[in-house]
Order: sequence, then C-alpha cells, then structure tokens
Amino acid sequence: MDSALTWVPAELLLGGHEKPAASGRRFAVHNPATEEILLEVADAGPDDAAQAMDLAAATQADWSATPPRQRAEILRRAYELVEHHRDRFALLVTLEMGKPLAESHAEVSYGAEFLRWFSEEAVRINGRYSAAPSGNGRILVTKQPVGPTLAITPWNFPLAMGTRKIAAAVAAGCTAIVKPAPDTPLTMLFLGSVLAEAGLPDGVLSVLPTMDAAALTAPLLADRRLRKLTFTGSTAVGKSLLAQAAGKVLRTSMELGGNAPFVVFADADIDAAVEGALAAKMRNGGEACTAANRIHVDNAVRDEFTEKLTARMAKLNVGDGTRPGVDVGPLINERQCSKVGELVDDAVGKGAALLLGGRPEPGRGYFYPPTVLSEIPSDARLLTEEVFGPVAAIAGFDGETAGVAAANATEYGLAAYIYTRDLDRALRVAEQVESGMVGVNRGVISDAAAPFGGIKESGLGREGGAEGIEEYLETKYIALA
Ligand code: NAD
Repeated sequence: MDSALTWVPAELLLGGHEKPAASGRRFAVHNPATEEILLEVADAGPDDAAQAMDLAAATQADWSATPPRQRAEILRRAYELVEHHRDRFALLVTLEMGKPLAESHAEVSYGAEFLRWFSEEAVRINGRYSAAPSGNGRILVTKQPVGPTLAITPWNFPLAMGTRKIAAAVAAGCTAIVKPAPDTPLTMLFLGSVLAEAGLPDGVLSVLPTMDAAALTAPLLADRRLRKLTFTGSTAVGKSLLAQAAGKVLRTSMELGGNAPFVVFADADIDAAVEGALAAKMRNGGEACTAANRIHVDNAVRDEFTEKLTARMAKLNVGDGTRPGVDVGPLINERQCSKVGELVDDAVGKGAALLLGGRPEPGRGYFYPPTVLSEIPSDARLLTEEVFGPVAAIAGFDGETAGVAAANATEYGLAAYIYTRDLDRALRVAEQVESGMVGVNRGVISDAAAPFGGIKESGLGREGGAEGIEEYLETKYIALA
C-alpha cells in the first residue's frame, strides 16, 4: 500500500528535473497517524532558490510566447495523469496529512479539477478594442502574464492548494517556483513530476521543499526578477510576506486564515443544518480555512440543534485514515494538537459546557476527538482564533440582527454559512455577512469554477473561477492613432 511513496521524487525539482539540495541536507516527512518517518526529502536552501529563480527568469519569455492552446493541452494532460494516478495521490495525501482516504479522494477530484478548469481558461484570455469617446484614437487593451511567480502553500490540502496556484499560473503563461509546507511536500513533488510528464517544458516549474521557509523565500522576494507572490497560509505569515512584497511592489494573492461563522436561524430545517454543520466543521477534521469555527444558533432552536449535532459527532470514528470506516484522521502535528487542546481548555475554564470529547487521545499519533462545546462565553479565544480542529463551538443568539452581528464580529472574512428556509432572509443576510464566500443551506462550498477568497484579514485576490487567472495577468493599454 505504501508503494505510493516510490512514485515521489525525493529530491528537489529544479525546472522539472530532480536534483539534490546544494547543501546536501535532507529532512524527514512523518505520518501524523503513526509518527513514523515516511520519506526523507531534499531540503532546499538559498542556493537552490537562486538556481530556481535563474531558471524561472530564463524560461519566462519562451513560456509566455507558447501558444495558449499548447499550455492548455499540457494542463489537460496533467489533469488526466492526476486522475490516472488517483489512488497514489489519495494515499500520499492520507499518509502525509492524515485525512481519511475517502476525503483524500475528494481532494484529488477537487485538485485535479483546477488543472482541467484552467486548461479551459488558458484559451480565453481576452482583451478589448474600442474607439476613444473623444474620437481621438483607439483603445486596445491586452493581457500579459505577470511573470515569474513564487507560490507558498499550506499542509491542509497538499494537492489542491498546489494545483489551484500552479494551473492558473501555467495557463496565464507564468513560470513558477513552489514552496510546499514542510509537513506535506510529498504530494507536491509527485505533482511536479506529473506536470513534467504532461509536457511542461524544462524550467517552467520548480518545487522546493524546505525546513527553513524564510531563508528560502526572503532572497526570492528581494530578487527583482520575481514578479508575483501567491500565498496560502496563516494571516500572521501572510502579513509578514506582504511587508516583504511591498519592497518591490510585487503583485500578491493572499489566501489567509478564516474564522467562519455558521449561522442557524430559527426557521431553518434543523436536520439539514446539522448535516451542513457536520460537513462544514468536520471536513478535513476541521483543518480547513473554510471550517465552521463558530456555530451561532438562534436560541429558539439551539437545544434541538445542539443535541442532534452532538449525537452525530459522537458517532464519528477517529483513527488512521488509511483504515476503512475511519471518519476523522489525526491532526497534522503535536503543535496543532496542543493548540486545539489549549483553546478548548480556555473555553471550558471560562464557563463553556463540554458536551463531547475534549481530551487528546493517548498513544501514538496526533489524535484529538470530535468535541462539542456549548454556551461559549463571549471572551473565549475560540470565538476569535481559528481552532483548526474537530471542535464545534456553539453559541446562542436572539433574532436576525443579532445573528448577523455575531457572524461579523471578527477581523476575518473568508467563508460564512447560513441556514434559513426564508429566501428573502437568505439573500438579505448573505449580502450583509462580511465574507468573500457564503454558503446558503450548504456546508461545503469549494468549487474550481467559483472564485475562492476572502475579505478583511482573510486575504487579497481570488483563486479558481474566471477570476483566478486574472491574478496572473497584467493589463496593458495600447493607445492607437
Ligand atoms: P502557515 O502560515 O504556518 O504556513 C503556510 C506556508 O507558509 C507553509 O508553506 C510555511 O512553510 C510557509 N511559511 C511559514 N513561515 C514563513 C515565512 N516566515 N516565510 C515564508 N514562508 C513561510 O500556515 P499553515 O499552518 O501551513 O496553514 C494553516 C493556515 O492556512 C490556516 O490559518 C488556514 O486558515 C490557512 N489556509 C487558508 C486557505 C485559504 O484559501 N484562505 C486555505 C488553506 C489554509
């Protein structure tokens, strides 16, 4: 079963070719379910970054001149290859990240879809031609690739966070250097080799895993040849990268942290809301930026909702994601496990009622049980900090205005969920909620064909949808006589 590991190039991928790190250093990637070492991979440093930058810069002109149809067909082949290797990709995701195999398969579908979607978008990069209103000349507007791009990805969706950036950059005609998260570089290395097999020319893509992110990215961000930074990760790291990017006025796309409210109004279909909350909370074991972090329920239906959600959460099986019947895998690492425990203890210490779970599972692996807390006090850290774990935090409210106010009481603005049977209320509240994405009567919203992204401190820009490719394009105005 672990033979998926034999498909992973364990060196750096420089311009598509395997190469050991200049320093000769390697680092171990662990299975969070067993704490065992899966593989040791090359550990990139500043010298490797410089080499990747040389390649990206040298290849940029040729790559942007490559016909869009050709770029599209490479992405389409990559989509087919990811599907061909579906079982291997899914197993790798489960082995290095921990989510159950069924969820890894869902990620493979989602991740592969970005390759297909952007293969279709590559040939629809349009400009416009118009007469100047004054009659004085013509206005020609065209789009050009931004240029060499640095992509930094998190560990929670090891495949999809890569394809969402790489496919858009490649479709637009940008070369790219990808720095995967140190917990989960294996899927990205395999993806890099699949893109090379799909025909991506030498030099277009480098994949550089590293244990020292800042040492690798700081010189790249200071290099005048880099033209774009796309980052998915925490708001704190995003802010520090934005400050560095300001030095060269780099184009940036920032997919940052979330603190999604899940708001259940009194008129909601409670059974549907419970299923939606389970999906919004427990997808990826709660380790999703779109995860329902705060569940706000109208006090008129709070008891019924809480009882039913607790009963559903209690039935979830926790264990090694490679085993059949497992619903919830381990958290990514010990640090994450302690952080979840700390936030739960903080809420309970301040008066929240612990209805389920609440203690890390003893033994090997970073397991934390599905946990339900209700009567969350307003000063609990859980209401303002992203828990990134299987913890459902339920708080009550009275009436629509209070529900909207509760949803918006955060500096984040990525996803929000609302449950109501009233269409007028659904649209009214969806418009008032301060987030980039709103799920109405559904708990899972991600779609390669839709613009994914946040407002407020959740980020800048959008990934996926027709908007996604724009992040990698510059607009040029040519004034014609
Ligand atoms: P993180 O910010 O710690 O790390 C993200 C990436 O940044 C990793 O590759 C990491 O190695 C790198 N990094 C860390 N410090 C760096 C530095 N100083 N310089 C350069 N790179 C650095 O986040 P994480 O723990 O990997 O991921 C979880 C976070 O990501 C959560 O906050 C989650 O909400 C967010 N996330 C957001 C989205 C989204 O689309 N908005 C999607 C997934 C995850």
